[in-house]
Amino acid sequence: MKLHPSTLRLSVLIPALLCSTVLHAQNLNDAIAADYNKNLKGLFEHLHQNPELSFMEFKTSKRLADELTTLGYEVTPGVGKTGVVAILKNGKGPMVMMRADMDALPVEEKSGLPYASKTKSKDWFGKEVSVMHACGHDMHVTSLVGTARQMVRLKDQWSGTLMLIGQPAEEYTGGAIGMRNDKIYQRFGTPDYAMALHVSSEIEAGKIVAVEGSPFSGVDSVDIEIPGVGAHGASPHRGKDPIVLGAQIVMALQTIVSREIAPKEPSVITVGSFHAGSKHNIIPDSAHLQLTVRSDTVETRDQLIAAIERVAVNMGRVAGMPEDKLPKVTVDPQPMPPTINDIPLTQRLKTSWTQHFGADIFDQKFKRLGMGAEDYPFLIQNPTIPSVYFQIGGTPKAAFEAERTGGAAVPSHHSPLFKISPEPAIRSGVEATVVAMLELMPKT
Ligand SMILES: [Zn+2]
Ligand SMILES: [Zn+2]
Repeated sequence: MKLHPSTLRLSVLIPALLCSTVLHAQNLNDAIAADYNKNLKGLFEHLHQNPELSFMEFKTSKRLADELTTLGYEVTPGVGKTGVVAILKNGKGPMVMMRADMDALPVEEKSGLPYASKTKSKDWFGKEVSVMHACGHDMHVTSLVGTARQMVRLKDQWSGTLMLIGQPAEEYTGGAIGMRNDKIYQRFGTPDYAMALHVSSEIEAGKIVAVEGSPFSGVDSVDIEIPGVGAHGASPHRGKDPIVLGAQIVMALQTIVSREIAPKEPSVITVGSFHAGSKHNIIPDSAHLQLTVRSDTVETRDQLIAAIERVAVNMGRVAGMPEDKLPKVTVDPQPMPPTINDIPLTQRLKTSWTQHFGADIFDQKFKRLGMGAEDYPFLIQNPTIPSVYFQIGGTPKAAFEAERTGGAAVPSHHSPLFKISPEPAIRSGVEATVVAMLELMPKT
């Protein structure tokens, strides 16, 4: 078959164009692989062996600040106690923020990794505890440094201002609020877009999950004080038993989620603490319940809180308590809001990731998010900053297959056995972040 000259030109041109896109992706992949072998592997293992508790991330933040200063960023340490803010100005364009949390947990590592933590430290109450990066925040800090290096290398391919944040105390909560209280946006500018990532042991290593909606739930801590009338345990008719009333409240709370909230609306009410009494034969005069309440929207949150109040107060009436001694519900005035991804922005980044990596980069098997929470929303509200919080897989496919066929369970976050495959996770974390940055700050 003879090709028409114009068809021939086109047929040569199309592979050339495709080739340049593939080469661009391949170049970035190669550069990150080289950086992993030369720098990031060592940095990750160093951070893993030297974990620090919330608000004690002194060495971690110093190391992060030093890495970013060496790369040419304008670095301000000590923001919100141990936080780090690094700015790279590169011409006109939007400001994009990337946040990495830095803290570890009071857990004794039993992962068996050659670089397992043996670190011990005083906790917030002066007690000596073992410390472990059991949530993977060492991966986040390492990815941030990898991203920082690539963005310097690719400076001629983007235009705007990059804001990198090392945030303290995500686990303790208070780190994000601390940085806001230290006026980061007044001092360094308010980002036009924000991003954060978390490595996940529930996702296949190197794959991305980016939820169009709420990847993390909101949390309310609720206390219920239950007054009673104390009496001898042998004379229950002389008192009003707050333990029985408390038990009735606990059971009545169970039908709020199951009967009042729409079945596909995520919500949880857990009574995590029930304290009352001192001795076998005394009916106490009070009981105390502590609840964690999780939801993904403000409307559901308001519905749950109102229902808890209704149930607690009216169960008091059922028990015959007088109006001035009904159970009292107190909601922590500082709730943790849900983390909400901006849907158009999430779709935009997913399109970029698909073009760069191919659709296979997304973990299609991953279906369900839990009702965990994050303090990240404090960084993206008041004012609202369009944001995407995405997850990067950290568990090799073979480990999931072993678990499915009766082998060892994949350890969860915060477990002493927690471990991730650092290379695919970090390389993918850096690459996904850089691709997103280049999308959001195109060269003008
Ligand atoms: Zn955690
Ligand atoms: Zn975490």
